[in-house]
Amino acid sequence: MSTLTTIDKAGHRLMPDAAASFARMQKARGSAFHVTSAYRSTADQQVLYDGYKAGKPGYNFALPPSQSNHCRGEAVDFGSADYAWLEAHAAAYGWIQDKNERWHYDYVPSRDTHKPAPSKPAKASSSVLKKGSTGTKVKNLQRGLNKKFPAYAKLAVDGIFGPKVEAAVREFQKRAGLVVDGIVGPKTVAALKTYGVTL
Ligand SMILES: [Zn+2]
Repeated sequence: MSTLTTIDKAGHRLMPDAAASFARMQKARGSAFHVTSAYRSTADQQVLYDGYKAGKPGYNFALPPSQSNHCRGEAVDFGSADYAWLEAHAAAYGWIQDKNERWHYDYVPSRDTHKPAPSKPAKASSSVLKKGSTGTKVKNLQRGLNKKFPAYAKLAVDGIFGPKVEAAVREFQKRAGLVVDGIVGPKTVAALKTYGVTL
């Protein structure tokens, strides 16, 4: 698994989303966790499972490799010094304590309240023109308004959405029966298009 991310000096590893959450949680705590196990290879997990099944001394409960979140890189076993902090705070970071093993936590992304929201595609905001917008689309707007609505649009074609452009947009919206907000959103763009103004 080449995508695993190292999470501590001992070289324990997790999948990137779990590793990022682990880092946020550790930063909030302000000191390093005492990780005893994180990602395990199938072979490593098999040894633990076989040891547990055979009742070998020193072997704790272990799931077969196909069922263990350790093999998916989304589980951590912590040292006892971490228990108290984790039991108070870990759930909000999406780390859910195992019912039977106090040291074992599984990472559940949907429960992680500290996960940064996915950044919106830049396209969504750039498709709306409003006061302060600049560029080619504003120029097209100015040119189009001047050409089609000379009665109220006498704008400099400078690509800057200033107060005069806003006033002309408001006038257009009023006459077109749109919400008069001076912002060229999808509905205003569509209405302009019907008058032959394309941005
Ligand atoms: Zn575990």
